Amino acid sequence: MIKKDNSPIYVTQPDMPVFDEFVESLREIWDSKFLTNNGKFHQELEKRIAEYLKVPYVSLFSNGTLALITALQTLRIQGEVITTPFSFVATTHSLHWNGIKPVFVDIEEEYLNLDPEKIEAAITPQTTAILPVHVYGRPCNHEKIQEIADNYGLKVIYDAAHAFDVNHNGSTILDYGDLNVLSFHATKTFNTIEGGAIISHDIKTKQRIDFLKNFGFANETTIVAPGINAKMNEVQAAYGLLQFKSLENNRLKRQKVWEKYSEELKDVPGVKIPELPDGLSHNYSYYPALIEEQDYGISRDKLYDKLKEERILTRRYFYPLISNIPTYRGHNSSKLSNLPIANKIAEQVLCLPLYASLESFEVEKIISLVKNNVRENFLI
Ligand SMILES: *Cc1c(COP(=O)(O)O)cnc(C)c1O
Repeated sequence: MIKKDNSPIYVTQPDMPVFDEFVESLREIWDSKFLTNNGKFHQELEKRIAEYLKVPYVSLFSNGTLALITALQTLRIQGEVITTPFSFVATTHSLHWNGIKPVFVDIEEEYLNLDPEKIEAAITPQTTAILPVHVYGRPCNHEKIQEIADNYGLKVIYDAAHAFDVNHNGSTILDYGDLNVLSFHATKTFNTIEGGAIISHDIKTKQRIDFLKNFGFANETTIVAPGINAKMNEVQAAYGLLQFKSLENNRLKRQKVWEKYSEELKDVPGVKIPELPDGLSHNYSYYPALIEEQDYGISRDKLYDKLKEERILTRRYFYPLISNIPTYRGHNSSKLSNLPIANKIAEQVLCLPLYASLESFEVEKIISLVKNNVRENFLI
């Protein structure tokens, strides 16, 4: 069985606003001739996101990577920063672009996030900050991370690229740490085509962030830092504003797919589904499955290939591990013996397609293929 129009099933599809409504916004932008530099739509989107996520201050960016780079500059982070190798490469790249040495610490087997128990051993006199990631929107152990940061006088910047609209025990996980960075890339749950944001807790910090993303301009004649150009434009902001109309509905649709996968795959030998922690209101943005070759019969990569033959394009988020790519593999902390769990998980993980417009016959097809690969093997 192939999808009706014969097109592949991607791991995600962007949630997009209604075209005609977007055209209306475009007309307004055209008429105003105000295209960028903190315009009407930009200001409105910052306000809407702050209200929706219940966070104090939002600074919009042209993408999440520049937001990460700027977050580090905002707090003047230098030297060494402790981070996870199990993330998208932009996490560590943001350190590299600031001339900061990444120090990789292994992840927890259960939650796949930076393991707080292993952070202290990685601290040196050069350590200035911790850069954890809420992988797949699953919250880090923020209490332990903050305790260590407080003891050693370190800053904490969360790469919260997957954590738009995740609440734990009733409050947003964007409250944790000194700064939080979001990505609004087309593959993320809330998208502005390309885009991102830094969430800050006080107005002075927001002001510094806003200077830094606009070349360092504090006013027409005062340039306070060698800032970058990372502004979100009006077209992106207008697109983002229209997303609020369908946000809740799309989340519910993803939740349904998520629950269907979990129900059907929970007893498949060799397929492990990491559970969500208690008290979590999730965004259901990714569906990671861990394929354990010994019990499943074929490797994760074989399954990936087989699904691809059926035009189902899953993704190995996150493989290769950041610590294993040429730029970073030379670091002491990149050694396999330092990161056994992250290396194991990177070999097992496969993210299945998950998005609001995924149809139930497609979900059923994916489930049956994942199940059938096991059965095939048992017949041999
Ligand atoms: C998507 C992503 C980024 C980068 O965001 P862009 O908006 O694509 O620049 C950073 N970190 C993580 C964990 C991501 O998934």
